[in-house]
Amino acid sequence: MGLKVYINGEYFEKDEAKISVFDHGLLYGDGVFEGIRSYDRLVFKLEEHVDRLYESSQGIMQNIPLSKKDMIKAVVETLKLNKLDNAYIRLIVTRGVGDLGLDPRKCKFASIIIITDNIKLYPEKLYKEGLAIITVPTPRNMPEALNPQIKSLNYLNNILAKIEAINSGYEEALMFTAHGYVAECTGDNIFIIKNNNLITPPAYLGILKGITRACVMDIAKKAGMTVKEEIITRHNIFTADECFLTGTAAEIIPVVCLDKRTIGDNKPGKITLNLMKEFRKATKTDGVKY
Ligand code: PMP
Repeated sequence: MGLKVYINGEYFEKDEAKISVFDHGLLYGDGVFEGIRSYDRLVFKLEEHVDRLYESSQGIMQNIPLSKKDMIKAVVETLKLNKLDNAYIRLIVTRGVGDLGLDPRKCKFASIIIITDNIKLYPEKLYKEGLAIITVPTPRNMPEALNPQIKSLNYLNNILAKIEAINSGYEEALMFTAHGYVAECTGDNIFIIKNNNLITPPAYLGILKGITRACVMDIAKKAGMTVKEEIITRHNIFTADECFLTGTAAEIIPVVCLDKRTIGDNKPGKITLNLMKEFRKATKTDGVKY
């Protein structure tokens, strides 16, 4: 039996799981999504992800025809059906099937899709040795135009930045706001540590308010660190003691080099390693069991 995919309350075999070519999610990137992880039959921060999904949906004036409670139930049911203990979960809500025009009023029903799959992990080497990243010319979307706090299906901004990084021989790109402040990476938030202060750009600049980001900020506060959401520049990263990225898929990944300039002492920092350890503990307790 293959992987089953949830579409609008029904389950389909992976190869049969299809949506219409008239779905505005495909035609216009008109929809929202979440990337979620489960660890040993615990969906990490599921309620937070569902809250963000509904907030994103509100941000694009899209109604989700399912309560949050039922959405949580559907995610858990899909995981159980697929007998996945450790999974990557993609939760998608599109505007639904309409015609070839933009008019969202033609889309009568939102499409709800839940894909659960095995998680592909980043190579262990990157966590031990740290990642090298590069700044790219494409700025993050202007929040006044399309707020990056909305996790919409339109990820072209991030994909273009990713291509620029790949073309330069790097796996991850550091993106700036249109005003030149550090924003985030293509699929991860960024943190620096300076004199025992944990610093990350504020969400109002136009970044995704990461759930891993919030979790790491909590852990650091509990450990007695000063946590600041503050504007940072490239200079702050070059002169930081430590640097790391956070995201559901990457978890916490140390960054040791930006634009071929070494950060700290060119290896994952002590505080970063400790936060990684504490984060691992959180993934065992903080979520919905199934
Ligand atoms: N920024 C962007 C642009 C992302 O796509 C993601 C991952 N979805 C993140 C940050 C990290 O967010 P989270 O910790 O909620 O996965």
